[in-house]
Amino acid sequence: MEKVISGIMRFKSSSFEERKQLFADLATGQSPEVLFITCSDSRIDPNMVTQTEPGDLFIIRNAGNIVPPHAKQAGGVTASIEFAVAALGVKHIVVCGHTDCGAMKGALNPAGLDGLPHVQEWLDHSRAAVDIVRAKHGQATVNELGEVTEQNVLLQMQHLRTHPAVASPLSTGEADLHGWVYDIEHGTVNAYCEEKKAFIPAEERYASLIADANSQSDLKTA
Ligand SMILES: [Zn+2]
Repeated sequence: MEKVISGIMRFKSSSFEERKQLFADLATGQSPEVLFITCSDSRIDPNMVTQTEPGDLFIIRNAGNIVPPHAKQAGGVTASIEFAVAALGVKHIVVCGHTDCGAMKGALNPAGLDGLPHVQEWLDHSRAAVDIVRAKHGQATVNELGEVTEQNVLLQMQHLRTHPAVASPLSTGEADLHGWVYDIEHGTVNAYCEEKKAFIPAEERYASLIADANSQSDLKTA
């Protein structure tokens, strides 16, 4: 804990001072462009991975980057999604899974979650992802962890579409969904490609977007 406490002191005298104008701008409001849904895993730093600043990402985190399907009863995830989309007007929603995910290992082996009844119940929201992989390979073990992680991202994107706050801006093209898997060991991100029906390197998936951004910055510097 000492590391965390001394960090607060260092933050004020270093990072905060360096970004004083940014924090002054953020002091009275936020307008993030992206809702970022990822796992609670301590090894993921959404701002570091995307090289973004405070104010850029509205973040929801939980075990397994899960989005329960829309239901009458509100939960924290549902309320946060509604606020991000309907009140803040985010334009993009990213569901980001990751390699070596403990929640996905748990989903693969629910029997091993004895003594963790809430985790067990929560991971039931990922059961269809495990079932899809099992149907394809005749088994779903830790060897299929990568595939289950990808299927879980797709499943949670499907769940997102059941939320009225998301369904309507999606239908008009005002919002977009993205499915990612972050590789902790290699520092890379694979993104789901609708055309290829597969996860491919993010630089390939977003090649045209990157090219557009580059040509715009060329124009600015010309
Ligand atoms: Zn995880």
